[in-house]
Amino acid sequence: MPFRFLPKHKLALATILYWFLLLYIIAALLFWYIRLQQQSSQMANYRLMELVADDPQYLKKVEQINEESIRKTHQYRGEGATFLFIILVGAVFVFRAVRRQFKVAQQQQNFMMAITHELKTPIAVSKLNLETLQKHKLDEEKKDKLIRMTLQETNRLNTLTNNILISSQLEGGGYKIVKEELDLSEVVSRLIMDFQQRFPDRNWVQEIQEDVHLKADPLLIRILINNLLDNAVKYSPKSATVLVKLKQGASMVELAIADEGPGIPDPEKGRIFKRFYRIGNESVRTTQGTGLGLYLCKKITADHRGTIRVSDNQPTGANFIVQLPNN
Ligand code: ADP
Repeated sequence: MPFRFLPKHKLALATILYWFLLLYIIAALLFWYIRLQQQSSQMANYRLMELVADDPQYLKKVEQINEESIRKTHQYRGEGATFLFIILVGAVFVFRAVRRQFKVAQQQQNFMMAITHELKTPIAVSKLNLETLQKHKLDEEKKDKLIRMTLQETNRLNTLTNNILISSQLEGGGYKIVKEELDLSEVVSRLIMDFQQRFPDRNWVQEIQEDVHLKADPLLIRILINNLLDNAVKYSPKSATVLVKLKQGASMVELAIADEGPGIPDPEKGRIFKRFYRIGNESVRTTQGTGLGLYLCKKITADHRGTIRVSDNQPTGANFIVQLPNN
């Protein structure tokens, strides 16, 4: 997909143009300083030549002319340094702003490509599975497998469309959060059951405290947990353990979802919650995704006055911890 490289190419061009303009402006400033300095010393020379040697004030006037010339030099240097300072501050500001802009543009482009891919794959796979079921007489086991795969794909589609719609609605203020009394223990258990059916090879371990209640938006809380479970499955080996803990604290509830994947390197821990952010390079990445999931998790927890963070699971993997105030 060649257009993926367009922003990088443009960025290189903009960087070259930027440095050229900056150097040109600094060179012009230097040139301006030298010319002024030359003019000032020429003026001083003319005035010295005009002096008459037998003037009783001669020495005093020479001194005055020299002093004025020195003062002008100081003035030009001061003005030059101020201009240079302003230019450099402006240059740093523009440089950072442009880089940020390009980064966002590139992430958005990656997102658009990812989304196209993410939408097409589940549709194509589901269509093929359903056609196979329709055309061939299959034994029960194969049928089950095809149905399970189709369900997995439609679930992926569901998560994706939810993520896109809800994040844009939350951004634009189009989604009104409605808080209800929730039995979080039940919500989490049900979601795990759902994942157990979709991914039976996994070792699902639960430490769910009973009767953990929370006042929250049911749809958003489901999207939050669903995204974290989805990532735990997506970013860890097929039969590895996913550990889900839920407990009631003094003033908050705590949900932790740990997996046995590669985990999140320290420098990435803060970045993964940014919109469209995905670890690594788009061209070498093998997992599918849009970079919206954790952004949405962060937004949902913040909208419920809670926090989300990631720590290292032992001996390996990531552990996402959500804390939500229970009133
Ligand atoms: P997506 O999964 O669609 O790429 P997310 O916002 O859910 O987007 O995650 C952002 C990035 O954080 C992912 O691309 C992945 O690199 C990293 N990540 C998220 N969850 C995990 C996890 N459980 N283990 C390892 N890396 C993860």
